[in-house]
Amino acid sequence: VDDGPAKNEELSRAVNEAIERGLWPGEGEGTVRFRCECTQPECNEFIELTADEYERVRQDGRHFVVRPGHEAPEIEHVIERRPGYLIVQKEGSAADAAEASDPR
Ligand SMILES: [Zn+2]
Repeated sequence: VDDGPAKNEELSRAVNEAIERGLWPGEGEGTVRFRCECTQPECNEFIELTADEYERVRQDGRHFVVRPGHEAPEIEHVIERRPGYLIVQKEGSAADAAEASDPR
């Protein structure tokens, strides 16, 4: 079902796929700068994690990485708290949309 323009978190995830392929270097050793995958269209924040860590998040189409405080409790819940970022899992229709738009 096409319900209009992709949501912000889905766009960020698509951008992050390209970032991961290009391995845009981060500040820290071995890290890559990924875009925050939160629901706020105006969010331009970055998250530093290794490509391996990002790969682990992407194993599940419902999982996204966001900055602490950028989680949206009404449509997702935090499954892991890491230094500098959170891993969230979409729920309900948000989970269905996330899986349907998974670029993998
Ligand atoms: Zn954000």
